[in-house]
Amino acid sequence: MIELSNPKVQIALSAVRQAAVLMRQIQQETIGSSLTKGDKSPVTVADFTSQAIIARMLSQAFPDIPLVAEETSTALREPDGAAILSNVTKYVNQVFPDANAETVCEWIDFGGAEPGEQFWVLDPIDGTKGFLRGDQYAVALALVEDGVAQIGVLGCPNLREAAILDKEGPGSIVLAVRGEGTWSTSMAEDDDNWKQLNVSARSDASRARLLRSFESGHTNVSKIDQLGDWLGVQVDPVRMDSQAKYAVLAAGGGEVIIRLLSPDRPDYREKIWDQAAGSIVLEEAGGKLTDLAGVPLDFTQGRLLKNNRGVLATNGLLHEKILEGLVVVGA
Ligand code: AMP
Ligand code: MG
Repeated sequence: MIELSNPKVQIALSAVRQAAVLMRQIQQETIGSSLTKGDKSPVTVADFTSQAIIARMLSQAFPDIPLVAEETSTALREPDGAAILSNVTKYVNQVFPDANAETVCEWIDFGGAEPGEQFWVLDPIDGTKGFLRGDQYAVALALVEDGVAQIGVLGCPNLREAAILDKEGPGSIVLAVRGEGTWSTSMAEDDDNWKQLNVSARSDASRARLLRSFESGHTNVSKIDQLGDWLGVQVDPVRMDSQAKYAVLAAGGGEVIIRLLSPDRPDYREKIWDQAAGSIVLEEAGGKLTDLAGVPLDFTQGRLLKNNRGVLATNGLLHEKILEGLVVVGA
């Protein structure tokens, strides 16, 4: 089992767990009304709340380790942002009763650092569209050193045992530490029933479960279908949002994650907070991760994976075969 007494592991785990529990509450409390009004504010509230809580905990424990996080407080400080800021403060107060509007903004902006030799990287809510739809999303935090993730934590409120899509259960926390494996437990605060995760042993391409974005605009659906045909896949691809896909792959609930470039955004480059936590979660469970050309992901290039195109993540066994298929279908 992972050495949980390591302060970085302990704080990262506790921060993601507390944020994820609150995210589930916000999703449940706000989603119905917002969807009918077409109002995206609950997402904004959730994003900011998650980032404020995690940034506060990291900045207090590790003031010298920079945090690269997706959000900034700019919109909250404008007159139009006042209502959202007061909502965010209300939720943050559930964890930190001493928080006020000003400290909430300061904590959020602790996440405005640039990547360096050592940094935390946070997506406070990965899979925003899934969050709004009532589907999958993840709170994703990693510690990167010299371009390699050393700690990764995923809070996945709508997964059971990291592998199964389940909106009613307690949710899953997935934790990986370089050299110590990938482990998962329930999101419930007192649950320390850790189980080690291992990728699936399926090597037969016809039975490969392909995990892909729910949002067709984030990938290339017709090329995924062509790849599936070339591989002779007999099972339907699984559409789901966020790095929760990496938890499922690490837990053996699928064999392949594929992020092809959308035909509308052929120059898209992945953001580091969309991949860092997932990368170590998968690798420590025995999986393999590269871009679509088989090149390892390079986290030394700032906020974007400038040297990579798309992502291919597999249980390892199917990796070469799929790289070959990608060349054939021209993806
Ligand atoms: P997913 O839930 O797998 O669809 O991934 C969600 C992430 O996709 C978001 O956090 C965005 O940063 C990212 N994203 C946004 N636009 C694109 C795009 N055109 N291609 C690939 N990823 C995108
Ligand atoms: Mg994201």
